Amino acid sequence: MRIPRIYTTQSLAKNSTVHLDAAAAHYVANVLRMKPDRPIVLFNGEGGEYHGRLAVAGKKLVSVKVLSYIDKSLESPLKIQLGVCLIKSDRMDWLLQKATELGVSSVTPLFSEYSDIKLPANRYEKKLKHWRQVMTNACQQSGRTLLPTIGEPAELSVWLQQVDSDFNCILHPHNAANLNTNADVGSITLLVGPEGGFAESEITLAHKYKFLSLSLGPRILRAETAPLAALALLQYHFGDF
Ligand code: SAH
Repeated sequence: MRIPRIYTTQSLAKNSTVHLDAAAAHYVANVLRMKPDRPIVLFNGEGGEYHGRLAVAGKKLVSVKVLSYIDKSLESPLKIQLGVCLIKSDRMDWLLQKATELGVSSVTPLFSEYSDIKLPANRYEKKLKHWRQVMTNACQQSGRTLLPTIGEPAELSVWLQQVDSDFNCILHPHNAANLNTNADVGSITLLVGPEGGFAESEITLAHKYKFLSLSLGPRILRAETAPLAALALLQYHFGDF
């Protein structure tokens, strides 16, 4: 049977005993119904993973005896920062899950002219917690040991000023530039529009900040499909596909 990989926020060390936090404890004891002595893998998103055995699997307490540290990294040499204009909640979750599987390094949700999603500042914290959980689950499943980060929602025009990568591209079906696949690129920022696309002024502004337009062919992809196709393409040319 597959050995479960469990994320924990706790610091981990070889030969220690770790009491799992409530959510992880519930998952291990009640969902997976694991019994003591079963092998288990823990990771805390800071790199590497810890192999151990379940020591106690009780209703109130679930603990793991950590036996060894494995210096495992599945990170791509290419750092991809994704700026994604806000889309409907379920589609955003799907995008974040898949982008994590495809090796994104960080994501920033963006407000743009044609993104009609309302997200008041007092809901940021709850939403960020939810998005982090989606990405954590994707790491648990895909074997990643480093959690990609998700930033606070930002205005597109403000975010554009802060971007700092070797190469920036805006996904835009029209007037696209060619990708120079011979270039030596270690970090890329990728910008994707909402369902309504970008306003002309936003495309002009992105170009001002040295974003090149990148096309994914003549068919219009959904806002959650386009960044995934682009991530695969970029990992193939500059990353670890
Ligand atoms: N009606 C909009 C389509 C938006 S699709 C328009 O005509 O612009 C949502 C986003 O996905 C776009 O803003 C773009 O960032 C990306 N996208 C969709 N299809 C694409 C393609 N073929 N090439 C590049 N980007 C694409």
